[in-house]
Amino acid sequence: MRATILHAPGDVRVENAPEPKITAPTDAVVRTVATCVCGSDLWSYRGVLPVAEPQPIGHEYVGVVEEVGSDVSTVRPGQFVIGSFVASDNVCPICRAGYQTSCRHAQWVNGAQAEYVRIPLADGTLVATPEQPDEALIPSLLTLSDVMGTGWYAARAADVGPGSTAVVVGDGAVGLSGVIAAKELGAERIIAMSRHEPRQRLALAFGATDIVTERGAEGVARVKELTGGVGADSVLECVGTQESMHQGLLSARPGGNLGFVGFPHGTRIDGQELFFSHVGLRGGPAPVRAYLPDLIDRVFDGRIDPGRVFDLTLPLDEAAEGYKAMDERRAVKTLLRP
Ligand SMILES: [Zn+2]
Repeated sequence: MRATILHAPGDVRVENAPEPKITAPTDAVVRTVATCVCGSDLWSYRGVLPVAEPQPIGHEYVGVVEEVGSDVSTVRPGQFVIGSFVASDNVCPICRAGYQTSCRHAQWVNGAQAEYVRIPLADGTLVATPEQPDEALIPSLLTLSDVMGTGWYAARAADVGPGSTAVVVGDGAVGLSGVIAAKELGAERIIAMSRHEPRQRLALAFGATDIVTERGAEGVARVKELTGGVGADSVLECVGTQESMHQGLLSARPGGNLGFVGFPHGTRIDGQELFFSHVGLRGGPAPVRAYLPDLIDRVFDGRIDPGRVFDLTLPLDEAAEGYKAMDERRAVKTLLRP
C-alpha cells in the first residue's frame, strides 16, 4: 500500500509499505477513504519534536472496515466508520466519565495517512455511520476524527451554554470548529480572534458575531470593550502558546471558564493571577469519541458543515505538498485522498 512516512524534519515521502494486519483480536483494519494533515503533525515536520528515525504519520481518518479481529462485535467489514485519534476501550471508569483520551488502555493512533490503517480497540474507538455517506459529507465526517471534536470539547470545557458570550482564540481548523461548537451549544455572541481575512470570513459563516484582530493586551482590551467591561463567559483557547493562553485567561470574566485545547508549548500560568481571576480551567486532548454519535448526526442532518475547514485537497501521493502548504500557512488544513 501507499503510506506517508516522515523521514526527517521537512522530509515527507509517500512510499510503498506493508499493509497493516490484525495483531490483536480487538483490532480492525480500515481502508482509508480520506485522511488529513493535522496542525500537530507540523511539530515533527518542523523538528520541534525529534524525528529519530523514519516514522509513519497521521491520526485522522474515515474509511471502510476491511477486516476485524475475532473479539470485535460493534463494527463489521463494509461499514463506513469514523474513529478518534486515540483508541479507547470506551468502558473503563475514565471512558465512562467521558475522558476517552485518558482511557486506561489508551493507544494513540498513528499511520493514518495511508491506504489502510490498523485501529486498536475497534469496539471502543470506531463508530459506524447510519449509512454510506454521500461524497459531499466525507470532509465533514473526517473532521470529527479530531478537529471538530476538539473544538466541541473546547466549548464544553469552557461551559458554553444558551445565551452565553464566547471568545475563540485561534483561527486554525480547531478554532474555526470551536466557533461551530459555540454556535451549536447556544452562544449568543461569538467573538473570533483572527487577523487572516479568509479565516475571518469562515468564522463569520460558522456563526461568529464579532472579529477581533488585535492580540495580547490590546486583544483583551477589545474583548472587554465588546462585553461591557466584564469579559466573556467562555473562552476557547485553540493555539497553545504563552501569549494565547494568557490572553485567554484575561479575556474571561470572573467566574467564567477557559477551555484550552491548543497543544501547550512553553506555557506557564501564574498561581496568584489564576487565583484572583476566578476563572475555571479545563483542557487536554479532546475525548472526541464521546461526541462522535452526536456529531455524526449533526453532519448527516446538515446542521453543521465543518468540512469547510479543508481548503486544500490532494491525492495521498502529494502529501509532501500538503505539509508544505500548511507549514507555509498557504492552507488551513489539507485533506488527502488515497
Ligand atoms: Zn477506557
